[in-house]
Amino acid sequence: MQRLIEGVHKFRAEEFGRYRKLFRQLAQQGQNPHTLFITCSDSRVLAELITQSQPGDLFVVKNVGNIVPPASVTGSTNSTAAAIEFAVEVLQVGDIVVCGHSQCGAMEALLRNRPLQSMPNLGEWLHVAEAVRRMIESEYKHLTNDAERTTAAAEENVLFALENLRSYPSVKRRLADGTLHLHGWFFKIATAELFAFDPEANQFVPLVREPG
Ligand code: ZN
Repeated sequence: MQRLIEGVHKFRAEEFGRYRKLFRQLAQQGQNPHTLFITCSDSRVLAELITQSQPGDLFVVKNVGNIVPPASVTGSTNSTAAAIEFAVEVLQVGDIVVCGHSQCGAMEALLRNRPLQSMPNLGEWLHVAEAVRRMIESEYKHLTNDAERTTAAAEENVLFALENLRSYPSVKRRLADGTLHLHGWFFKIATAELFAFDPEANQFVPLVREPG
């Protein structure tokens, strides 16, 4: 907690000056984020840092494993659906990014497939992505290395999320209008590189060319 308090002090003393005008403007005019950014709760994945976004830019959903349940999953298991509806219907974001990442503990737990007795909610939540686990079991038999399987699961889970996004009526409508675009990203923690799914190449490719 001490580190958080110190961080707040540092922000107020050293950083806030640069943002004063922007925060006041956002308070008066409301938010108008351009993108719904869905990523993992993992402490190493910072949406704003890796995209250099400012306050007001991103509507961020962080959940365990950046899972997007299909629209048919309702109720308390799907708070992500509430964020999707709000971002797409009210905020009218133009883009949705689903960003998975390497070394994802949620994907490891999903692949391990053991009962999580002391964590029933986590078990139920991961079960939403059961289709991803089954796909790794059936289509990725050639991968014997756990790290490779976890990476494959994280990538497949991003595609699963994009497919599920299309099951939401509001998303469907905006996609049909051509006013909404979906993107699948993958963040490699060790090098902080971002990859984007290229549907034509059917694989994740570097999002930007590295300088130099
Ligand atoms: Zn994760």
